[in-house]
Amino acid sequence: MYQVSIQDHFDAAHYLRDYGGRCENLHGHRFVVAVTLEAPGLNEIGLVYDFTALKGHVKEILSRFDHTCLNDMPSFQGRNPSSENIAATVYEELAARLVGAPAVLRQVQVWESPEAWATYIPEG
Ligand SMILES: [Zn+2]
Repeated sequence: MYQVSIQDHFDAAHYLRDYGGRCENLHGHRFVVAVTLEAPGLNEIGLVYDFTALKGHVKEILSRFDHTCLNDMPSFQGRNPSSENIAATVYEELAARLVGAPAVLRQVQVWESPEAWATYIPEG
């Protein structure tokens, strides 16, 4: 089994509804996002997936969130823009772009600070 990962980031504001603490107030983070693909083997030139292509997909997905208030985005109308839900949202959008690819999306991680991050791995 091989895994490849890339990371990118975006800057955005958010607030957590019903949190019951200071995270209910509007504030910002540099959200660092890492995605990991895996495959049982390599392609004919020795790759799981092209890093440049993967970075391009992630940059396109994250650019929609950059310098926004995440709570205003359609992706977060029904759920809080927590790091956990950001990871799940990025997962869903990236997985849709990788349908038919020779590698599968294993996990998405989102850091909201250097010391705190969430990982989304779909069950099953
Ligand atoms: Zn926050």
